[in-house]
Amino acid sequence: MITIVIPFMVLAGLGLLISVTFHVFALVGRVPLGGNVFMAMNFGIFAIWLPAAFVFQRIGRDPSGRPSWKQALAGCPRWMRYAMFGLLGYAFLNFLLCTAAGTAPHHSAGDPVSPGSLRLFSGHWMAFYGIGFAILFSVVRDRSLLAAANCPSGHPVNPSASFCPACGVPLVRTKADISKPG
Ligand SMILES: [Zn+2]
Repeated sequence: MITIVIPFMVLAGLGLLISVTFHVFALVGRVPLGGNVFMAMNFGIFAIWLPAAFVFQRIGRDPSGRPSWKQALAGCPRWMRYAMFGLLGYAFLNFLLCTAAGTAPHHSAGDPVSPGSLRLFSGHWMAFYGIGFAILFSVVRDRSLLAAANCPSGHPVNPSASFCPACGVPLVRTKADISKPG
């Protein structure tokens, strides 16, 4: 499982680096590359978010089974969690600033990219690649997160379950596996 996650984590990290680079160029009114890369970055988000959503679905639940970002990012250092939510907030702020500046965000595939469009899109890329990276990094750094999402035979189980719903084996929990609700 982890061997599948690592390449996607590396790709997400690269996507984040490229996004930040493009964004810096766009902020100073430059466009480093043409429209093809522009589209590729949009498609790359899907390549990262499919595995990230899969991992989130496996580990990102609180003890009552509800989706939980805190649980999904439990393997990340604290600064990284703050940085990811910072990127999300920045993407929103960037969107408002670009909209206020009257940037036309729409381009067809053949058009050259304007710095304004690149700024708008790269702001979103940073958030998507960054948060995708954090989810994948979380399970790579703390592999017990994925282990706790399975029974000894590998069936997916809810963090609050006492028995595996598939094979009925009792689930032994350590204190670290279960975080308190709220
Ligand atoms: Zn089982």
